[in-house]
Amino acid sequence: LINSGDLGVCKYGEKCTFAYNQLEIDVWTVERKGKLNRNLLFETTASKLDPVISVIRLLEEHKGMFIFLCQECYDSKPRIISKRFSENPAICSNLDVCHNFDTNKCLAFVVRTHNINYSKVRPLSGSCHLDLCHQAIRYGCQRENSCVFAHSIIELKTWKVQRLTGISSEKIVEASLKHYNKLEQNSKKEKGNRPSSGGGGGKPKGGGGKSLDMKMKFVCAQCWRGGLISEPDKALKYCNAKARHTWTKDRRVLLVKSPERSKWVQVRPLPHAKNPPLYYDMCAQILEKRKCNYTGNCTFAHSQEEREMWMYMKNNDLRDMQQVYDMWLALTAQSRPADGATFSQPSSEEKFIAMPTDCAESGLHCRLCGKNSNSERQWQQHISSEKHKDRVFSCEGEDEALTWSYRFPGTRFEICPKAEAKCPDGASCDYAHSRDELREWIERRNFLRQKLAKAREDMLIMPDELDFGKFNFLLQD
Ligand SMILES: [Zn+2]
Ligand SMILES: [Zn+2]
Ligand SMILES: [Zn+2]
Ligand SMILES: [Zn+2]
Ligand SMILES: [Zn+2]
Ligand SMILES: [Zn+2]
Ligand SMILES: [Zn+2]
Repeated sequence: LINSGDLGVCKYGEKCTFAYNQLEIDVWTVERKGKLNRNLLFETTASKLDPVISVIRLLEEHKGMFIFLCQECYDSKPRIISKRFSENPAICSNLDVCHNFDTNKCLAFVVRTHNINYSKVRPLSGSCHLDLCHQAIRYGCQRENSCVFAHSIIELKTWKVQRLTGISSEKIVEASLKHYNKLEQNSKKEKGNRPSSGGGGGKPKGGGGKSLDMKMKFVCAQCWRGGLISEPDKALKYCNAKARHTWTKDRRVLLVKSPERSKWVQVRPLPHAKNPPLYYDMCAQILEKRKCNYTGNCTFAHSQEEREMWMYMKNNDLRDMQQVYDMWLALTAQSRPADGATFSQPSSEEKFIAMPTDCAESGLHCRLCGKNSNSERQWQQHISSEKHKDRVFSCEGEDEALTWSYRFPGTRFEICPKAEAKCPDGASCDYAHSRDELREWIERRNFLRQKLAKAREDMLIMPDELDFGKFNFLLQD
């Protein structure tokens, strides 16, 4: 093409395997990563009716994959995850019971992020309604398998695809596996290419993966506390606010801005820990009431940005904020304008789509935490842990959180005596600040009690368990 003048095509025409322009390179790159499916751009009735395309769309939208699980194990209380036993394909991998796998298997959708979640997709029958079951979404449905409404979004969407295209569950699993293998191969290829692409010498290890696409700057800590963003003067002696605070290393904070939120937020230094956690979790208090009352250095992330930065620091062995900032500066200078100020994050976290072998983990499964235990002892430890018990009450990162409009209930189910004249305690006050807030608190308390009852029924909470720490007030009248 480069030799062909301005014709715009080379002699191989459509068959040429080289890109004709930058746009084509960009589109191919996105397609290769599996982030764009051109069929979806030209959606026609035909592609809607294409079973494989429809399944792939579900995988991409919900970032997971379809597999078969042993239904008998899945429905037991507590839930057990078992698959086809690799050494004897006729039975399930739960060797205490050895269910016949083929007569007993059920379709399930697995999503793996920092934890692992399974949703069963029951067989579609003529009596099924293509609508969500309201009970199931909130407290869990008592009718369980016999309910004709869908028990999850993914069940609903899968049913819709099945009704439209007639695809069987076997074919769904097959299409899902094929798609997964293709993604795996592509990501291997991409990794293989990376070292030879040159110029990336300073890139942190890992590569590929999710990008930590953020802007960063240091600002005056004192001004920031007052809600002001002030940077240092040229000489790095004072902040540029009227107050002219002294600029020193420990009087500044690092702010970052992600393109999604496009708002400057503070990132606190990485919490010190001998054994850093595999993943940093969001602070439950922040999620519930946008404010953390912990007096020490809270080691949970106070924003998504902070969480991402901490993950990045941990994975790249960066201990202090200056190091991160310097690396960011270096990378920004190096990669501009090719891919902007983009950090690449090791791909371990990015691997949302669970590989068949990844999710070969089996054993007792806690749906509240998305964790598997492979021994009875580990399970007992898990369900009596504070973190697990908190999960019944905190709805961190779940859709449930979005259904409430007021903050998490305080300990006093009464109207605040100071509510008239704008209570000084604000969001940390134990009382409700309006009738509507109080009404929602009572509703939410009832909801949480039912959620607890369901968790007991599912054997996720021991029958004699009465201590829920800071949530105990929700159980008293
Ligand atoms: Zn060509
Ligand atoms: Zn089984
Ligand atoms: Zn139901
Ligand atoms: Zn200042
Ligand atoms: Zn916190
Ligand atoms: Zn749990
Ligand atoms: Zn108050």
